[in-house]
Amino acid sequence: MTYRVLARKYRPRTFAEVMGQDHIVTALSRALQRDRLAQAYLLVGPRGVGKTSTARILAKSLNCDQGPTLDPCLQCDPCREIELGGNVDVVEIDGASNNGVDDVRGIRDRVHYRPMRDRFKIFIIDEVQRLSGPAFDALLKTLEEPPGHALFLFATTDPHKIPETIVSRCQVFEFRRLREVDIQNKLAQICQAENLEAEAEVLAAVARGCRGGLRDAESMLDQLFAAAEGAPTLDDLEMIAGLARPERWLSLFEAVEQDQPQAILQSVEGFLARGGTERDFVEQGVEAIRDLLHLILLGEDARGVEPAPEWRSRQLALAKAFGRDRLESLLGMLFALEGRMNQAPLAARALLEWTLLRAARLSRLLETGRWLQGLETSVVPEASPSAAAAQVTGSRTPTTSPATGAGRQASPEPAPPSPTPAQKPNLPALLKQVRRHSSTIADLLEDRVIECRFHLGENGPDGLQWLLRPLTAQDREMLEDPMEKRALADLPGSPGPWHFVEDQGPQKPIDPIGDQLRETFGGTEEVP
Ligand SMILES: [Zn+2]
Repeated sequence: MTYRVLARKYRPRTFAEVMGQDHIVTALSRALQRDRLAQAYLLVGPRGVGKTSTARILAKSLNCDQGPTLDPCLQCDPCREIELGGNVDVVEIDGASNNGVDDVRGIRDRVHYRPMRDRFKIFIIDEVQRLSGPAFDALLKTLEEPPGHALFLFATTDPHKIPETIVSRCQVFEFRRLREVDIQNKLAQICQAENLEAEAEVLAAVARGCRGGLRDAESMLDQLFAAAEGAPTLDDLEMIAGLARPERWLSLFEAVEQDQPQAILQSVEGFLARGGTERDFVEQGVEAIRDLLHLILLGEDARGVEPAPEWRSRQLALAKAFGRDRLESLLGMLFALEGRMNQAPLAARALLEWTLLRAARLSRLLETGRWLQGLETSVVPEASPSAAAAQVTGSRTPTTSPATGAGRQASPEPAPPSPTPAQKPNLPALLKQVRRHSSTIADLLEDRVIECRFHLGENGPDGLQWLLRPLTAQDREMLEDPMEKRALADLPGSPGPWHFVEDQGPQKPIDPIGDQLRETFGGTEEVP
């Protein structure tokens, strides 16, 4: 008994069976009906989405005994031979293995003979981008004056490697990646037809793991049924295909978001122990982050992001907790990691752990930076001085920790009851408030400020103390104006009266953001 792999058994045999490429099927069908086919087509697209199948279907449509027809009979000799290979008038060449000029000369010689039996002489060249330069030259000569009975069908995953002279003589069709949900449905049909049992969540995971390539998904299904005992589970999928259960990514990135180094290291350990490689980790992690990014940018409209209902809310919460900036940074770090792994493959695991740990800290770094830059407008107006102080020093507040169920450690440091002079107010946010009141004063303070801290009066903290570089008499007068001082003291976020002190010593360079970062992290920090 010979076993036919699923991908071959369920290869589309008619235009109706080609999945997810309606734009191409429609265009080809119309051209066929109107007898307006081009002489050369370039079928472009990722692997396993139906390029070669479509080429064969078109060949059958043209050469079927019942044809030309949109519905080849699949029974006649030409139809069957095209499906199995070995049709005298349909020549299939794999550009990857026959990339020499001799192979293409063979085409040149043959193309001018009339078809031996059928209507058209059809040349299907798969992976055409792999042909050598001289082979392309020879092909070009053929394409310049093709005889009427010849049709060229080129398939490629990499169109930019094909000379423009060739491309310009072809009609180009771009195949799309298939939607995960379509792949999942197709896998379900196959299982039914094969009398195989598989949970929907397993098929969904296979579909998402293959990123839009149906053939890969079918191969993985083959693998899964060959190796699993009984109906395959997500655990089988992890062991056999190295595809981590979707919720593992959630747990890992929750740990990154919360800066929980132990959980991060355990995640990596678990993934590798289950047979995945560091590279798999990066690839799948990138997809998981991409999903979160899509969720946050597109919300419910995010296509292809169809999390199982039981963890959808967790995923949404995580996406929101990260926010766009941090997700984009995280993606960038994972891409950089891939490059570093190429340079130092032996250190792959250390690089992976290092990157994730840094990513966890970067989360805080970015948060702090954002506060310092006053981008979070909501921080100051309602916040008490103590809360503002706690945020500036980098500790988390309850409002930034979404309640998202298991594994969360939502226990921020308790805010001190009242500010002490050692704590610092949120300077940029304060300046922003000043600017709303008077841009002249805001410019002046921004220009002169050395330090702004909570002021300690006789009865405890009472307002702000500004240490300023020397002022002109006019500036001093403006700041000490009683009306202005009262207005400043009453600004949203102001803890009370403002005291201005001029510094008479040597001038310090001013770098409040850098100071805060250095203070928070110690030393210098390279931000990737
Ligand atoms: Zn036929």
